[in-house]
Amino acid sequence: MKFKNLVILFMIGVFTFSCKAQNKSIIFPKGEKITNNNFTGNAYLQMLVAPDSLNPISVGNVTFDPGARTKWHVHPAGQILLVTDGVGYYQEKGKAKEILRKGDVKKCPPNIPHWHGASANSAFVQVAITGREKGETIWLESVSDEQYNHL
Ligand code: MN
Repeated sequence: MKFKNLVILFMIGVFTFSCKAQNKSIIFPKGEKITNNNFTGNAYLQMLVAPDSLNPISVGNVTFDPGARTKWHVHPAGQILLVTDGVGYYQEKGKAKEILRKGDVKKCPPNIPHWHGASANSAFVQVAITGREKGETIWLESVSDEQYNHL
């Protein structure tokens, strides 16, 4: 076999392996880039379950690029976050920032201002289960860089 063919085979192998490595932790699709102004940085949403009369909740897969986060916000009926990949943050107003990692589960109590998002050096993927029966999410001010970087 010619050396050139060996190089091509090697490159195909590297490409195949890197694709598998990148996809190994993807559970749900990344979805579309979020274009509303409720986030800082790049975040993506794939809706998984829309609320209906039987299950008045929405379930969405949210992927945050490193440094991306929500604004401060409130869920009138609370929220549950299931972390499926990466390292991120969760903070309730007046409390310390918590680190969330793949496999962590976080309950956001109703009507408590909070934010969540990626850490500075890692993307963060969460499945957000949001109660809807007491109203829509109320969006507040942005999380400043000072708040974001505060330990
Ligand atoms: Mn929330």
